[in-house]
Amino acid sequence: MAKPDSNTRSERAGPPGDGGSRTRKPPDPSAIDTSRRPFVLVWEVTQACDLACDHCRADAQPARDPAELTTEEGKRLLDQARAFGEGQLVVLSGGDPLARPDLIELVEYGTEQGLRMTLTPSGTSSLTPAVIERLADAGIERLALSLDGASAASHDDFRGESGSFAQTIEAAEAAARAGIPLQINTTVCAATAGDLPALRDRVADLGAVLWSVFFLVPVGRGRVLDPVSPERAEELLTWLSTVSEDAPFGVKTTEAPHYRRVAIQRRRDASDAPSEDGIGRRLGIRAGDGFAFVSHTGELYPSGFLPSSAGSVRDGGLVDRYRESDLFESLRDPDAFRGKCGVCEFRHICGGSRSRAYAYTGDPLASDPLCAYVPDGYEGSMPAGWAD
Ligand code: SF4
Repeated sequence: MAKPDSNTRSERAGPPGDGGSRTRKPPDPSAIDTSRRPFVLVWEVTQACDLACDHCRADAQPARDPAELTTEEGKRLLDQARAFGEGQLVVLSGGDPLARPDLIELVEYGTEQGLRMTLTPSGTSSLTPAVIERLADAGIERLALSLDGASAASHDDFRGESGSFAQTIEAAEAAARAGIPLQINTTVCAATAGDLPALRDRVADLGAVLWSVFFLVPVGRGRVLDPVSPERAEELLTWLSTVSEDAPFGVKTTEAPHYRRVAIQRRRDASDAPSEDGIGRRLGIRAGDGFAFVSHTGELYPSGFLPSSAGSVRDGGLVDRYRESDLFESLRDPDAFRGKCGVCEFRHICGGSRSRAYAYTGDPLASDPLCAYVPDGYEGSMPAGWAD
């Protein structure tokens, strides 16, 4: 079944069709079958990074791993990405992608192949206006920067680096001057949730086209942070849904697909006539279903927060593994999900975070413990970590 786009369209960069004027026309979402190709392919080009953020999924290290994909292997990976189809979106993430000296070369190569190249650099002194200009010249279509606090004090404390806030703001302004559409990524956990209203204003001031709000999954260094409760998540998702109605930027969530369920319920409560999928936009993607992640060493994962590998892509098997591996096929079958996600009437448009289910239980098909919703008549067990 063709099942386009989402509120979880990317972990760290944007979806097809959310770009500004410099972006090329994306493929028609309604024509894309997510069992055949991802909307978003993330390549973690390196785990090297000068920052040591509390929430880092990648457990980033100061130095590059000698086992990371070489320039030539990276180009072969981009060739494979092109085989998914026209206008494939590729997100170069890290670590800090700028830790790779061949980054511009890779962006140019991907652009020449017809890929839609986007980038999630770290907010460090490496991200100078000159570098941003070079990225623009190389064809980058979106720059996604992280802001986890609305002030220097809160952001730098979370990032573990004094000056990161100022560098991020400077980079955002340089992206605007270079004509690169800007996305802001924010991590939601107990320590940052209270700053979201101020962050909303900051995102608007920066002229971002998209605010990507990531609900913490306890992997990597993120294990030391406290997630919000299911009840608090419900409040925040409802608030985000209201923000999305009049903000000058798009709003999406990452690892919180029940944002779509919340939006549908709000519309129903308001007695709005449902359109298309009930929320007036395309349906969603999840880990392994419209989304794929290639690690710095070439392992293919359903997402960067679901560290269960479908095998290495060094042998050229990216497309086949995405389409045919047992892991990816199982993640595309919501009827096989367990617990309340498996019987929920929203499972085909939501399905819960498979990454969070895996983090809490080791089973990527288990229920998402962050969702407060209990389907009518459900009497089975509640997810691990769930408290009523
Ligand atoms: S129970 Fe699962 S499928 Fe249903 S809304 Fe919650 S997370 Fe989504």
